Amino acid sequence: GRGAAEAARGQEAMRIGHGYDAHRLVPGRKLILGGVEIPFALGLLGHSDADALAHAVTDALFGAAGLPDIGAHFPDTDPAYEGADSMLMLKEAAAEVAALGLRVENIDCTLVADRPKLSPDLPRMRENLALALGVAPERVNVKATTEEGLGLAGEGIGAHCVALLREEP
Ligand code: MG
Repeated sequence: GRGAAEAARGQEAMRIGHGYDAHRLVPGRKLILGGVEIPFALGLLGHSDADALAHAVTDALFGAAGLPDIGAHFPDTDPAYEGADSMLMLKEAAAEVAALGLRVENIDCTLVADRPKLSPDLPRMRENLALALGVAPERVNVKATTEEGLGLAGEGIGAHCVALLREEP
């Protein structure tokens, strides 16, 4: 609920959260980001489908809500999440924060990948994330950058997300 001070000023309380995730690129795995399967020789290694973007968004929601992280919610030691569709985990996270009276104002994501080129798939990731969060696509942004061989150096893909949630009065 809204704090007394905010209510007195007629302002809504906002909460910000940040999520970061990275997974290694390996042969023999699908490359899935934001629920979009991207045709590429390598895919991301992980217990679930290793959708680093979905994981970053999930952790940003949990972060804004002051909840434990994705690993605490969906343990990678739990066989139930082996090969799991991470967009379903994101939907669960969205439902959990909604139940706390928090609405997604917007999210902004940055993918970090020297390979493959992700720009053609960004609009579909945006649509998928908006659908999972139950918000208009205008409230979701997904961008991509490279690290010029300095960071993950093509060995993996990283994803950052910040989420702004509004406390419902
Ligand atoms: Mg992950």
